[in-house]
Amino acid sequence: MRILIVEDEPDLLASLAQALREEGYAVDTADNGDDGLFNAEGTDYAAIVLDVMLPGMDGWEVLKRLRKTKKTPVLMLTARDQTRDRVKGLDTGADDYVVKPFDLEEVFARLRSIIRRSANKSTNVIALGDVKVDTAARLVSLKDKPVELTAREFSLVEFLALHRGEVVTRTQLYEHLFDENDTTMSNLLDVHVSNVRKKLGAEFIATRRGHGYCIE
Ligand code: CA
Repeated sequence: MRILIVEDEPDLLASLAQALREEGYAVDTADNGDDGLFNAEGTDYAAIVLDVMLPGMDGWEVLKRLRKTKKTPVLMLTARDQTRDRVKGLDTGADDYVVKPFDLEEVFARLRSIIRRSANKSTNVIALGDVKVDTAARLVSLKDKPVELTAREFSLVEFLALHRGEVVTRTQLYEHLFDENDTTMSNLLDVHVSNVRKKLGAEFIATRRGHGYCIE
C-alpha cells in the first residue's frame, strides 16, 4: 500500500512517514500543496494524508482539484479550532479527518478504514480459503494458525486480497508496495512472492504469465 503525506511541518511529516513505513506502507511525501497535487495526480495511492494549512495551494484547493480526476481516499489533518473545516472537508470530497494533535493509532485506524471502504470491503477480515487476512490487526492466519509475515509481505498479501479475483500487474504492485525512497532491485518482488508462497502455500498466489499475480 502506497501512501502520500502532504504536510509542511517537517517534524510531523518525518515522524508520520516513519511510523507509516514501520506499519509496512510505502510512503511518499510532499511539503506543499503544489507538489502534493502533482504527486497525487501522477500516482495511484492507496490513500492520501492531507494537511489543511499548507504554503501555496492549501489542502482544500488540492482536494478540490484532485477530485476532478481521482477518487483516491483522502484523510484530512485539521486543527482543533477549525471545526467548520470538518464539514467543509467532507463536502469537498474528503473521506475522513483527524484533528491535530492526533494519536498515531487513530491515523492508522482511519487510513485502514478509508482504504477498505474504497475497496468496498466492509469487514476487517478477508477470508481466502484457508487463509485469513485481518487488515486491522495486520495479521494473517493459515488454517487458524498465525503466520509471521514481514511488513512488505503483509502489504503484498493485503493488496492482492483487496483485489481478489483480479489480475494485479507487476507495475501496480511496484507502485503500491515501494516508494520513491526504495532502491529496490527489479527481482525483489519475486522474492516477496516466493516467500509468501513458502509461508501460505504455493497455490495461494497464482502467476498470470505476462500479466501479473492473482489470488482466486
Ligand atoms: Ca500545516
